[in-house]
Amino acid sequence: MLAEIITIGDELLIGQVVDTNSAFIAKELNKMGVSVYQITSVQDDKNHILTAFKEAESRVEIIIITGGLGPTKDDITKKTIAEYFNDTLVLNQSVLENIENIWKLYVRQTLLQVNKDQALVPSKAKVLMNLNGTAPGMWIEKDNKVFISLPGVPFEMKALIQNEVLPRLTKKYHLPFILHKTLLVYGLGESTLAAKIESWEDALPSFIKLAYLPDLGKVRLRLSAKGFDKEKIKTEVQVQIDNLLPLIKDNFFGYEDEEGAVESIIANELTKLGQTLAVAESCTGGKIAERFTIHAGASNYFKGSIVSYATDSKINVLGIPKDVIDSHSVVSSQVAEAMAKRVLELFDSDFSVATTGNAGPTKGDSDAEVGTVFIAIATKNGVYSEKFMFGNGRSKVINKAVNKAFEMLLKEIFKN
Ligand code: ATP
Ligand code: MG
Repeated sequence: MLAEIITIGDELLIGQVVDTNSAFIAKELNKMGVSVYQITSVQDDKNHILTAFKEAESRVEIIIITGGLGPTKDDITKKTIAEYFNDTLVLNQSVLENIENIWKLYVRQTLLQVNKDQALVPSKAKVLMNLNGTAPGMWIEKDNKVFISLPGVPFEMKALIQNEVLPRLTKKYHLPFILHKTLLVYGLGESTLAAKIESWEDALPSFIKLAYLPDLGKVRLRLSAKGFDKEKIKTEVQVQIDNLLPLIKDNFFGYEDEEGAVESIIANELTKLGQTLAVAESCTGGKIAERFTIHAGASNYFKGSIVSYATDSKINVLGIPKDVIDSHSVVSSQVAEAMAKRVLELFDSDFSVATTGNAGPTKGDSDAEVGTVFIAIATKNGVYSEKFMFGNGRSKVINKAVNKAFEMLLKEIFKN
């Protein structure tokens, strides 16, 4: 089964808004066995939109459209859909009630005609009720093709995809079961890893595909299987993983969740162990902490973080002795280790990680070359650190430091 995604909005074409809607929808469709054939972004322009509809319809069965449903641009998408399907707009009473309700609860201003007009929908469309906003989702079928139009606001679109669109597509089409399992491998380059598991890979059944996803010091191995016999797929993928694990046992660190979040592996393990973590960050500026706290349930294991960015904050806030900094420089293993030890004590945690480095572009408070980063790990049993040279490019250095910090933490936690 094939689908196309059409995103509508001038803001997408001038680069003001990044089209995250397509990525989300494509991911969700792929998970349920629908392949996305093409993604198209068009301006808020009727003729462009009409052409895009026509072309997409000539290629695929499912067309998902987002955007252009707000009141400001005159509901361009809705009018274009009505024209495309030779239809007229009619007032939908439930949509109007939803709009009035949202106004009463949140807006508390006079309901203008432009707002009421959002309740106009093409008569052939089935309304997908948008409980999070005023623009309704719409589902129109024609000659075995289905057009689904959704608001552009990502959070409204996501809720409609999950609650309305996916269940309806599952019901309408006989879709295969798809299973992805992503294994996180550290400490082996892509080619070394490939050589190590070559004969296993060659023996994989044809319905299981393997992908190498290398990224800054780690390789993710993704197994994907597709078919109509769900139980068979689950069993066979597990059999293959059981054969694979002994080959990579020193380098395998767990399964990544859907978002590819290594912190989830750390989070699950610490929660399971009932142990805790604290962070002291300099050059990573809070990014390590953020990666943990963005996930619900972080307070089970994440005690907190100190972003001691300036040298005097390392002294005055974190309590690193001034003479340690003076004699070794602020970017040094001694300072990284002192930071890790202090934050472990301050938060009374079981693990801590600390970063200090020079992300560039200029040298700053130390003589360390741009790209130099020291990362330290402390536990109640001791502390150690490693030095890295991450090259230049400020955000690249910072991201590499964050990834390395996760890798070192993961290794330390899984040592137990
Ligand atoms: P109109 O385009 O009719 O004036 P609008 O722009 O308010 O209305 P939508 O086009 O539905 O309504 O989009 C609402 C907001 O959603 C946009 O301003 C934009 O910030 C965001 N948005 C739209 N399309 C996308 C997209 N493809 N990816 C991410 N965000 C998007
Ligand atoms: Mg728009």
